Amino acid sequence: MQNYDVIVCGAGPSGTIAAAKLAQAGLKVALLEKQFLPRHKTCGGGMPMVMQDQLQDLAPEAFVESDVTMMRHTWKFEDAYLGLMNPRSTDERLSLWMVQRPIFDQVLAQRALKFGAELRDGIAVRSVEPESNGVIVRAQGFKTGSEFTAKARYVIGADGANGVVVKATQLRKKPTIALAMEIEHPHQWGEGHADLRPDIAHLEYGAVKRGYGWIFPKGDHLNIGAGAFRPNSLDARKDRALPAQLKQTILDYMDALGVKYDPDALKFHAHPLPIWGGKERLHEGRILLVGDAAGLINPLFGDGILHAVKSGAIAADSIIDEATDEYTNRIHAEFAANFDAALNLARIFYQWTGACYKYGVKYDKATRYATQLLCGELLFTEMAGRAMKRLKRSVGENFFPAFNW
Ligand SMILES: Cc1cc2nc3c(=O)[nH]c(=O)nc-3n(C[C@H](O)[C@H](O)[C@H](O)COP(=O)(O)OP(=O)(O)OC[C@H]3O[C@@H](n4cnc5c(N)ncnc54)[C@H](O)[C@@H]3O)c2cc1C
Repeated sequence: MQNYDVIVCGAGPSGTIAAAKLAQAGLKVALLEKQFLPRHKTCGGGMPMVMQDQLQDLAPEAFVESDVTMMRHTWKFEDAYLGLMNPRSTDERLSLWMVQRPIFDQVLAQRALKFGAELRDGIAVRSVEPESNGVIVRAQGFKTGSEFTAKARYVIGADGANGVVVKATQLRKKPTIALAMEIEHPHQWGEGHADLRPDIAHLEYGAVKRGYGWIFPKGDHLNIGAGAFRPNSLDARKDRALPAQLKQTILDYMDALGVKYDPDALKFHAHPLPIWGGKERLHEGRILLVGDAAGLINPLFGDGILHAVKSGAIAADSIIDEATDEYTNRIHAEFAANFDAALNLARIFYQWTGACYKYGVKYDKATRYATQLLCGELLFTEMAGRAMKRLKRSVGENFFPAFNW
C-alpha cells in the first residue's frame, strides 16, 4: 500500500489549491479526481477578480475569458437597470472574471502537479476509513475498474456537493441544499439584444421563486442559468417541480434577449449547491472538509469558487502548521460572521424580492456594493444594517416586522 502525507479527494478549485500548497511545502500529496480532466463542471464560472490574490503565480490570461464591469438587472425580464461596478467617483477598479470551469480547473490541477502533487484523474474515491494513525482511502478507476488503495496522515474532502468523504464522518448531517441549472450556448457578439456584451453580466430576479437567473458572457458563448438559492425545504432536490421551472426560466431569458437556439440541441445541467446554514464542525480526526463539501456557499449570491479556494488554502495551512484541531475555528474566523449576515439578508431578499428589487437592486450604489461584497472588500456584517435602514426608509418602518437590525 502506498503512503502519503495527504490525500486530497476531488480536483475542483478547493482540492487543487490545497494540493498545490501542501506539495509546495514539501509534503507527499495525492490528488484524486473521479473524472478525467478537463471535465465539464456545472457552474456559471463567475468570480471576483480578487481571485488573483490567491493565484499570484498564474497569469489571468490563461483562464479569464471576459472581464465584467456592469450588471444588467431585470424584474420579470423587464424594468431593466444597468448598474456600474465602477461609478466615476470610485478610485479602485473592481470587476468579475468569467471563466470556463473545465479550463480554470485544469489550469489549477496542472499547477498542483507542477508543485509536486501526484494527480490521478479518472479514479473515484469509494471509501475513507479512519485509523488511529492515519486514514485508508480506497478508490476505483472510473472506466477501467482498477483499484487504488493508499494510506495518508490526513485526508481532505474536496469532493463537492455529492462527495463521499463526508460519509466517513459524523459531520454535516443536515446540510441546506439549493439547486441551480445552466447551459453553455454558442454566441456571436453583435447578435441579439444590444446589452449582450462581453463586459455585461445579466441578472433576473422575478422569474425564479427564491432565486435568480443569470447570463454570463464568455469568450465565444453565453452561460445561461437559474437557481433557487433559498429553497422552501432543507433540500431543493425534493422539489419535483423545480427543474422544469429553472429550465423554463433559461428559455424565457434567451427569448427576452433575442438569443437564437434550437430547443432540441440545448444541454441543461443541474447540480446541487450546499449553502451555508450556520456554524458547524468541519473536521473530524484526520479528515478535513473544504469548499462545497463543507457547505461554504454564500447564501445570498450562491457563489462558492472563491470560498472553495480560500478554504482549500486554510486546510493546507492547518496541516502544514500541524494545527488541524484548529481547522474549524480558522474556517469560522474567515467565514462565519459574514455568511451569517448574508443568510439574514437572504431571508429578507428571497421573501420580499420585488420590494428589494425596486428599492435595493435599482439603487445607484447597489451594483458597486454587490461587487465589493463578492470581493470581500465590504462585509455583509457592515452591509446588512445599511441595507435594512434603506429598505425601512423606502418601504416603511413596519414592512419587515420580524427583522430588527
Ligand atoms: C449551476 C451552478 C452555477 C454556479 N455558478 C457559480 C458562479 O458563477 N460563481 C461561483 O463562485 N460559484 C458558482 N457555483 C458554485 C461553484 O460551482 C462551487 O461552489 C465550486 O465549484 C466549489 O468548488 P469545490 O472545489 O469545493 O467543488 P467542485 O468544484 O464541485 O469539485 C469537486 C470535485 O470532486 C470530484 N469528485 C466528486 N466525487 C468524487 C469522488 N468520489 N472521488 C474523486 N473525486 C470526486 C468532482 O468530479 C469534482 O471535480 C455554481 C454552482 C452551480 C451548481
